Amino acid sequence: MTSKLPAAARALAAQNLDALLLTPGPDLQYLTGFTHGHAYERLLALVLRAGGAARWICPTMNVDQVRPHAAGAAVVPWTDQATYHPALADALKGVSSLAFDDEARAAFLLDALAINPALKIAKASTVMRPLRIRKTADEIAALKVAADTVDQTIPQAIVLCKPGQTEADIDAALRAALLTRSPDQSVAFTIIAGGPNAAFPHHETARRPLEAGDVVILDYGTIEPTGYRSDITVTCSVGEPRDPDARKVYATVYAAQQAAIAAVRPGVTCQEIDRAARDVIAAAGYGDYFTHRTGHGLGLAGHEPPYMVAGNVLPLEEGMVFSIEPGIYLPGRFGVRLEVIVACGATGAVMINRHSAPELPIAR
Ligand code: ZN
Ligand code: ZN
Ligand code: ZN
Repeated sequence: MTSKLPAAARALAAQNLDALLLTPGPDLQYLTGFTHGHAYERLLALVLRAGGAARWICPTMNVDQVRPHAAGAAVVPWTDQATYHPALADALKGVSSLAFDDEARAAFLLDALAINPALKIAKASTVMRPLRIRKTADEIAALKVAADTVDQTIPQAIVLCKPGQTEADIDAALRAALLTRSPDQSVAFTIIAGGPNAAFPHHETARRPLEAGDVVILDYGTIEPTGYRSDITVTCSVGEPRDPDARKVYATVYAAQQAAIAAVRPGVTCQEIDRAARDVIAAAGYGDYFTHRTGHGLGLAGHEPPYMVAGNVLPLEEGMVFSIEPGIYLPGRFGVRLEVIVACGATGAVMINRHSAPELPIAR
């Protein structure tokens, strides 16, 4: 991956910020390609100055992992005995305003403020969001690779929804199916919610066995080798649905999703996409049961800007990639959510996933 550090330095300068500090996560991966999941309480960070100078603050044990991604920047090692405080103090010399990683440990921020109590802090996202929010053709191609994996696994996921299978059983089998289909990808997450559990938008997969007639929500995603993600939600029924309203609710969610997809084009605001879906659900009498926003951006992070939500007047631009995932959740009964990922193209939505099934799929 070619370094994107110069663009980030220019963005810092444009916002009159002295420096940017990033720890391992989507922003750092975007700029350098470096990822690491095991730094925990050890500070591993890139510090980029608005003038373009960069250095890494790096635990000694990670130096050889960081170096291939250092992009010519100095890698300053620190040992467990010495702690990272001297390296951090040195890296922040002369810095009076710092864009700090939104997702880093709070302790690192408190340490930076202890070093310089007058330090002005901004969120790193104010610098990084404009760089990341519009995807390049290469990024869209990577998102499509991940999306193809989850799309192609849908029939297998539905077949798993048999009476007696627990949510945990389905979870394990679905993860195995995803990895068998795409061994070079990893599973980002799964949510399996059956029967009354499907009325929780983000149910924690549990041990409840499915019963005939249950509606099941399956929400899952993968990560392709360069870090780009997929995220899909399908809803199906274990044989004929028990609840007499299941098909009507499914058809309503599908119509809401299609209305939102049809509204996508450059210049339309994010809140108009949310409104397009919400109006269909409200008109069917289920407005109170659509309890979350319509969508979120997707890229190196599972949830990132732009957010399709009331109050977000950000106009869509070509290259933005986001989910369209309306849902209806009837407490104690069941829920339906249908999620696909789309890109904003020059004249309308470009599907990253295939379209959701127009009618409630029945697992037999
Ligand atoms: Zn979600
Ligand atoms: Zn999802
Ligand atoms: Zn999602």
